[in-house]
Amino acid sequence: MTMDAERTMQFLFALRSKGVTDKRVLEAMEKIDRGEFVRGHFAERAYDDLPLPIACGQTISQPGIVGLMTQALNVQPRDKVLEVGTGSGYQAAILSLLARRVYTIERHRTLVAEARALFDRLSLSNITTIAGDGSFGLPDQSPFDRIVVTAAAEDPPGPLLAQLRVGGIMVLPVGQSDAVQSLIKVTKTESGLEYDELAPVRFVPLIEGLGQD
Ligand code: SAM
Repeated sequence: MTMDAERTMQFLFALRSKGVTDKRVLEAMEKIDRGEFVRGHFAERAYDDLPLPIACGQTISQPGIVGLMTQALNVQPRDKVLEVGTGSGYQAAILSLLARRVYTIERHRTLVAEARALFDRLSLSNITTIAGDGSFGLPDQSPFDRIVVTAAAEDPPGPLLAQLRVGGIMVLPVGQSDAVQSLIKVTKTESGLEYDELAPVRFVPLIEGLGQD
């Protein structure tokens, strides 16, 4: 299934009605076809505002939430962005159109391989995909201008806060994995960290270590 004109209009309408109004974010989400990131019989639901199952028991997040997270990040063209939780690669692909470089870490090697193949096929050459435990970030590439975490921890991981540059923004869900969590935005300033609550959300948990698959 592909994003034809009518589906594109409905998709963008649904995003706007969820509060995604940033023109650059909407343009990026129009260009990155979510249908490329959803496989099997769920492909026909790719343009619905729903999270959907992907390999390794994980999910591709719902477009409305991806849009709100991307909008809250306020990514600038020179930015170096870290994503924790590659999943299908959908969020990283959108970020790659807005940023200079995207590093994305995933604990399931199968998902890393699938996302890497998809980024190659779509010629998204500014994404580096890494297999590993993203809660430790990527110290060698830090500091980052923006960090997005797409799995929920009880608190923002310390190593990620340390790898955010002053003036940088991190967006992540926080809270217990079996309860409604809070999507928050953390801004690092000269004098410390500022926290804003964005929306109630439900994400899979941030898990320690590499997965078996
Ligand atoms: N951003 C993804 C997308 O666009 O499809 C959605 C990701 S899914 C909601 C969350 C992902 O985080 C899962 O693929 C999961 O395996 C991954 N994850 C969980 N804990 C992790 C960790 N410590 N390090 C890296 N990835 C992790």
